[in-house]
Amino acid sequence: MELGYLQLCADRRFHRRTMEAFEAATGLGPDEYWIEARPGGAPAYPGTTNAGRLAYREGALHMGWAAHGDRCLGFSGESNDEIRRKLHRAARARAEEFARAIHYELFGEGGDVTVVRVA
Ligand SMILES: [Zn+2]
Repeated sequence: MELGYLQLCADRRFHRRTMEAFEAATGLGPDEYWIEARPGGAPAYPGTTNAGRLAYREGALHMGWAAHGDRCLGFSGESNDEIRRKLHRAARARAEEFARAIHYELFGEGGDVTVVRVA
């Protein structure tokens, strides 16, 4: 069984959509991945977290790093582009740290969540 891990913003408008987009991109079911949420999502964490390391150790193969625009309370006053750039940097850093996993960058705006593989 494949497993995953998703780090996302706690935002009420985007958390569920982000999980659904992650499931669609990875083929994982809702009970096949760990989550970790806080305002701001993945770019709000300065480095790897206990939950992320635990999931990786437990075999998380698909790792998702998420944030959103359209006013995020974790990054008040910042534009969608600014938050997207922070997310990109965070996803690239985590992809190096968890080198054996497949990484995804998820960004929500305008009610949709787009998913791209981190190369
Ligand atoms: Zn947010």
